[in-house]
Amino acid sequence: MKFFIKTYGCQMNVNDSEKMRHILTRRGLTPAEDEAEADIVIVNSCAVREKPQEKIFSYAGRMPKDKKVIVAGCVAQSEKEKILKRSPNISYIVGTHQYYQIDQIVDEISEGKIEREKAVKAEFSKQWQEAVPETGSRSGPVSGYISIMEGCDNFCSYCIVPFTRGREKHRPFENIMKEAEYLSAEGYKEIILLGQNVNSWEDKERKMIFPDLLDCLANRVDVKWIRFITSYPGYYDDRLIDVMARHEKIARNIHFPAQSGSTRVLKKMNRIYTRGQYLDIIRRFKRKVPDITFSSDFIVGYPGETEFDLELTLSLVEKVEYENIFSFVYSPRRHTRAFKMTDDIDLETKKQRLYRLQETQKGIQLRNNRAQIGKTVEVLVTGPNPKRPGEIIGRTVNYRVVNFKSVTPAGEFTRVLVENVGPYSLRGREVV
Ligand code: SAM
Ligand code: SF4
Repeated sequence: MKFFIKTYGCQMNVNDSEKMRHILTRRGLTPAEDEAEADIVIVNSCAVREKPQEKIFSYAGRMPKDKKVIVAGCVAQSEKEKILKRSPNISYIVGTHQYYQIDQIVDEISEGKIEREKAVKAEFSKQWQEAVPETGSRSGPVSGYISIMEGCDNFCSYCIVPFTRGREKHRPFENIMKEAEYLSAEGYKEIILLGQNVNSWEDKERKMIFPDLLDCLANRVDVKWIRFITSYPGYYDDRLIDVMARHEKIARNIHFPAQSGSTRVLKKMNRIYTRGQYLDIIRRFKRKVPDITFSSDFIVGYPGETEFDLELTLSLVEKVEYENIFSFVYSPRRHTRAFKMTDDIDLETKKQRLYRLQETQKGIQLRNNRAQIGKTVEVLVTGPNPKRPGEIIGRTVNYRVVNFKSVTPAGEFTRVLVENVGPYSLRGREVV
């Protein structure tokens, strides 16, 4: 039997798909190249905004009748039985805490012994479930994901994650170290620690917090770069800054979502920091780790957001000079507190605000990238450029994309003289 996993959403979902691929392969199933050759199609879904959620239903709806379709992930968790009612061609629903049972579910489906109303496994569990994907089940051989925590206790007013991923669970220190050592032994050059709220990680038994974990990984694991996503700006402190300053291995880019530059909006979003506190952390970082860069997420058109609030967001973006940002129009999500607020900004205004934010950021990126012309940068080769045969793509320690001609294989480091830039990438010549 062959299976195919279609993944929507964040890196956490990508990592969950890797784990499901590992579990099913170990069970003797074969991964298919695409949907067409698969008997079982698993849709690992994202519920953060409405549009991606709808994509999942149209994707599942397009699957031919001879395929068994399983919906996993965040939409499965938040919509559960409703999905079975709405989409007759979906065979099973697997929530975010139950993916590790995917092999048993596939068995049940192939034996044909499930009653449709009972084809749901979506209970939350308090236990951390260990699943370490083998190299062959991972998305690539260069950067390896390691989940260190799951869920979120922050309950930002707009966000469905606490309802789809549950309350926070933190992975024990030993298990994280083991996976990191495994990836290093397998030749991975970079490890990426994952969590919705990665910097809240702690191991209570060992009395360790996130900076301690980074310190141990940097001291003991033989990889070139360590990254982590996503950090919550509410509880950053100088211990993390000190650890980063001590270890060059900890990559010089932090994804640090501000969401808005207006303290008034942040308060309505239930983010626990102010604009001033956010900027203060950035200043402290830049003082101690001068080569650090930041990226961020922003939501525009949040209920009650004024023109002045948007101006504050634009000025924050100018002040921080982000490496890149992900920006979204506010999307009301059921279960959340903001869902009950009046969504009072019309779509045209939301779109215009998004455009202004993205244009502001584009200008900053072009400026930042131009400053790289003439410099030689160290690059980790991630693979061939699918759009330009003969070219390869790499990333710098600040997570800048670099395009260049070379035969250097994925996973190797090389040096590139930057000759040309656009807002989204650098282009250059390999200098060896
Ligand atoms: N934990 C991360 C943090 O606190 O920044 C964010 C995780 S969330 C899955 C990814 C991004 O989706 C958020 O940073 C936010 O910008 C965006 N997002 C979440 N809910 C949204 C909503 N209802 N409408 C629009 N964007 C949303
Ligand atoms: Fe959602 Fe806020 Fe938790 Fe991020 S910190 S996952 S935005 S609730």
